[in-house]
Amino acid sequence: MLGHISFSGYIGIAFYIHKKIRKNYAGILLAICLASLAHGLYDGVLFQKELTAYFKLVFWGLLFFQVWLLKTVLGFSDFRRTLSKSVFHETDEKIFCYCCRCNKTFISNEYRFWKIKAGFCDSCNNFTVDAGNLINLIKYSRPVLNAKRYVKRLSGTMKNIALDKADKILFNYNRGFMSADINDLSDWLNESNKQDKIRMLNKPVVGFLLRNLGLKYIMKKPDC
Ligand SMILES: [Zn+2]
Repeated sequence: MLGHISFSGYIGIAFYIHKKIRKNYAGILLAICLASLAHGLYDGVLFQKELTAYFKLVFWGLLFFQVWLLKTVLGFSDFRRTLSKSVFHETDEKIFCYCCRCNKTFISNEYRFWKIKAGFCDSCNNFTVDAGNLINLIKYSRPVLNAKRYVKRLSGTMKNIALDKADKILFNYNRGFMSADINDLSDWLNESNKQDKIRMLNKPVVGFLLRNLGLKYIMKKPDC
């Protein structure tokens, strides 16, 4: 049952693009092939006695692929909101913060958006999140990226490091906090997500599938 819904998802994506954005016959054909392949594989291991041993493998493989595809499509979607102070709402809670720019700890009013809890530095007005909320922030803004792995890779640094080339987005591993001007942060996340998309589209097999399902058409600037 769930299989049927998710297998039709490929066609749904391609068809939506075909209808709403631009003609995408090749994408629909590819989606039908993909859906038939997934369905055939699933039924094959479900109903063929000799193959039932592979059922779990195929089941988890397909599930993993579906989740990955969903995350990737979300990454390509431009429906995500651009981060700014106004998308966050102030709660009644307080939150402990560390500002990498001012090198100080402080208690801020808590601001929330989606699963992200943040504070603002009372001296420089930098947006500040701890490592856990940095993961949430990346999950929201760069869905294609493995956020946990990205933040884990920052470990081992002793002092402030800049996450961006312009040295505006600061992260302090010892303290476990990131701080930046929220508009700079937003620009950096948008630009990075764009780079993530280009990287995905240029991958050999994955890139071929994504391009031809029509995802290249839903990007604001198809610069590849
Ligand atoms: Zn500050």
